[in-house]
Amino acid sequence: MDHLAQSIIETMRDPLLVLDKGLSVRVANRAFYRIFQEAPEAVVSRGIYELGNGQWNIPRLRVLLEEMLPQSTTLDDFEVEHDFPQIGRKTMLLNARHLVNQDVPLILLAIEDITERRRAERLVALQMQRLEWSNRELQNFAYIASHDLQEPLRAIQAFGERLSARTALLDDEARDYLQRMLRAAGRMRVLINDLLEFSRVTTKARPFTSVDLGAIMPQVVSDLARRIEETQGRVEAGALPTLEADATQMRQLLQNLVDNALKYRRDSAAPFVTIRSEIVRDGAEFPGRERDTARIEVRDNGIGFEEKYAERIFSPFQRLHGRDHYEGTGIGLAICRKIVERHGGRISAHSQPGEGSAFVILLPLRQSTE
Ligand code: ADP
Repeated sequence: MDHLAQSIIETMRDPLLVLDKGLSVRVANRAFYRIFQEAPEAVVSRGIYELGNGQWNIPRLRVLLEEMLPQSTTLDDFEVEHDFPQIGRKTMLLNARHLVNQDVPLILLAIEDITERRRAERLVALQMQRLEWSNRELQNFAYIASHDLQEPLRAIQAFGERLSARTALLDDEARDYLQRMLRAAGRMRVLINDLLEFSRVTTKARPFTSVDLGAIMPQVVSDLARRIEETQGRVEAGALPTLEADATQMRQLLQNLVDNALKYRRDSAAPFVTIRSEIVRDGAEFPGRERDTARIEVRDNGIGFEEKYAERIFSPFQRLHGRDHYEGTGIGLAICRKIVERHGGRISAHSQPGEGSAFVILLPLRQSTE
């Protein structure tokens, strides 16, 4: 074996063996001695099956070297799991090559220890599964809770209303209590419906199709016509892209954001909402695998909020402004985030009190099928 080949073998970080036709070791590199804790005199010129008290006498390796290799010149990524007496149970990836242009035929055997990689892969798969279970559990919980809570609530409302019809039975104070109770029950109904709607983002999800956001926007504006008129607001949308998405959810997403932009307005200025979009390359989620992504910004000139709350407002039922001034339950943005995440995107908020707010959505144009 020439000097160049020897030096290359020597510098490889993975264990390498050069075997002759009779499967005796001609050369082993430093990595082999280090990882398998062997000394050169116990390796060179020995048959591979004798090494380390026969620890390489592995049935699958024998098949590889004696049956498969003679029939082809290369063998790629042959995985072997084996208990090595000195170093324990290991998963090895074997690659073998016939070395041509040598005086005598030789076999190069590269051994890669992938035990850690396989273990990490198994761990990731397990964690993914756990996450999926707990997500499903949460999903079921939200659905069942909201569904089952409706029934007793209906009873409270129905009997409350019957009672309030019996005016002769009640004095003023009792009537006041009853009205408050019914109002609270009404609020609870709204909360339960919101929770149900939140869980529907996944339970009622539809498959992704090609969706032209430019065609959806006028529908959103038309649905909000009353609010726009009431507030003397203006909604201005630039060109919007076509992307792979759930059309109903895209409409819901834009509607929630524009609705908020009109709702959280300043007393001193009519609301002015702009929707702008551009295509960017985004790879924050998958470094090195940037995707064409729509960056959509919904901006208003409203009351704004402190930037430190920019994350909190996406949680269910989190509100910064009291319901005395602005109606709502705090589920809208949680639904927005859930929709965007289901589409493999991200949503964030940027604001200063009194300076208006901007909501930025990143949505991939194509849904990956991996
Ligand atoms: P809701 O509007 O029903 O309260 P959302 O989930 O849509 O629920 O919003 C959560 C909170 O975020 C709101 O209560 C409000 O305090 C704040 N918020 C949302 N959009 C805006 C906006 N455009 N300008 C100022 N504050 C906003």
